[in-house]
Amino acid sequence: MRNVQLLLRQHVGAPCRAVVSAGDQVKKGTLIAEPAGLGANIFSSVYGTVAEVTDDRIIIEPSDDQPDAFEPIPVPEDAGKLDMVKAAGIVGMGGAGFPTGVKLGINLKDTEMGELDPEINPELPEGFRLKESHILINAAECEPGLEHNIRQLEEQCDKVIRGVRYCMEITHADKAIFAIKKKNKKAVRILKEALKAEPDISMHLLPDIYPMGEERAVVRECLGVNLTTTQLPSAARSVVVNLETAAKVAEAVDERKPCFTKNLTVRGKINGGNEAHVFMDVPVGTSVGELIERAGGINGVYGEIIMGGAFTGRSVKPEEPITKTTGGILVTIDLPDLHGASTGLLVCACGGSEERMREIAEKMNGKVASVCRCKQAIENKPGAPLKCLRPGNCPGQVKNNMQFKKDGCEYIIIGNCSDCSNTVMASGPKMGLKVFHQTDHVMRTIGHSLYRTLKVSKQVSQDIDTED
Ligand code: SF4
Repeated sequence: MRNVQLLLRQHVGAPCRAVVSAGDQVKKGTLIAEPAGLGANIFSSVYGTVAEVTDDRIIIEPSDDQPDAFEPIPVPEDAGKLDMVKAAGIVGMGGAGFPTGVKLGINLKDTEMGELDPEINPELPEGFRLKESHILINAAECEPGLEHNIRQLEEQCDKVIRGVRYCMEITHADKAIFAIKKKNKKAVRILKEALKAEPDISMHLLPDIYPMGEERAVVRECLGVNLTTTQLPSAARSVVVNLETAAKVAEAVDERKPCFTKNLTVRGKINGGNEAHVFMDVPVGTSVGELIERAGGINGVYGEIIMGGAFTGRSVKPEEPITKTTGGILVTIDLPDLHGASTGLLVCACGGSEERMREIAEKMNGKVASVCRCKQAIENKPGAPLKCLRPGNCPGQVKNNMQFKKDGCEYIIIGNCSDCSNTVMASGPKMGLKVFHQTDHVMRTIGHSLYRTLKVSKQVSQDIDTED
């Protein structure tokens, strides 16, 4: 095993403060860094010796012997469940990284509905109030090609449900709903069976479109409420928790286990084929390269290594370590060459940032001549990640396509959701624009349909709702 590198910032908030020094001996579960503001404890994921502490990471040289035993979370015997979650350093494992101990620190019984915007909730009566409060379990696993969340539900359904019950108890939620895509037949069957014994927990089936895993999309699908870009799920008397996060809550409460491992999917241009390699309980801090090797190694020439998902991930080097929020490692085929042609970028909230789109354009040898933004992609404050006003409900993209034409673009690269990609495709090619989706090279690698050629319908959602 090679050195593990634990980043001091692997959550929303400020970087943690190291509490170990070079030469210290550590075990699995030894506290090595504490929050310096909003954040979450960081623990060693291996037995070994601290080799170096830098400004942004703690590097640990693992010992040869790596027993399964771990140091329990540092809380008194009579600690409450929320204190255990806080102490365990759990963050949103679906990629968001928000400290779970802070998220669950809400009493949903006393939480009133936020004011709903009638423009995006035309069907709801004035003063609409949800009578029941909810924990919504995000099991959408929306980024294409990733399979570790669904695998965990198939293999550890009881643990996930225990974690959900603890989340309900901590927040005083009346009910819980699993949001899961209908296509995951085996997991849906297992969950359905397990929920027979859980009268307060149900499941809502989702269509296989992107994005369904965004928090506000989960709220909309499960509760029928559209939140504005600045409203949190608490405005719909709910808290959204990723399913792996729920399992970590169960581990913290039942086993006093700190959060120092991660489940993830490695996939792509790998020796032996492009199917998903799911790794459970990988020590946080393991390098991307080591995991790719465990999956079989890179098969020849490749385009890029993406950490995260095809839509929202970023390209990384093999030396980069995984964090508590890493869900996918994707090795792609080479990107096409646009030979310096004028290229437009259509930036949206559900795809890559402008910076990421520019990086892709550069890798494709396209000359960026125009940048447009989907009009529903809102920046809540300067520099903040974009948020979609109505995720998955396209406002139309003709105007942007016309702008690209005006700016002399031959190609455009888009990062839109399924629905909006359809809309771009309805007018772009007719105007003579050649369209690439930022996920094309990933989809081609994993054998998934291209997002710019998907035929999607919101009707799918309604069909599913009435079927079960
Ligand atoms: S409407 Fe625009 S910003 Fe919203 S999900 Fe679709 S493409 Fe993204």
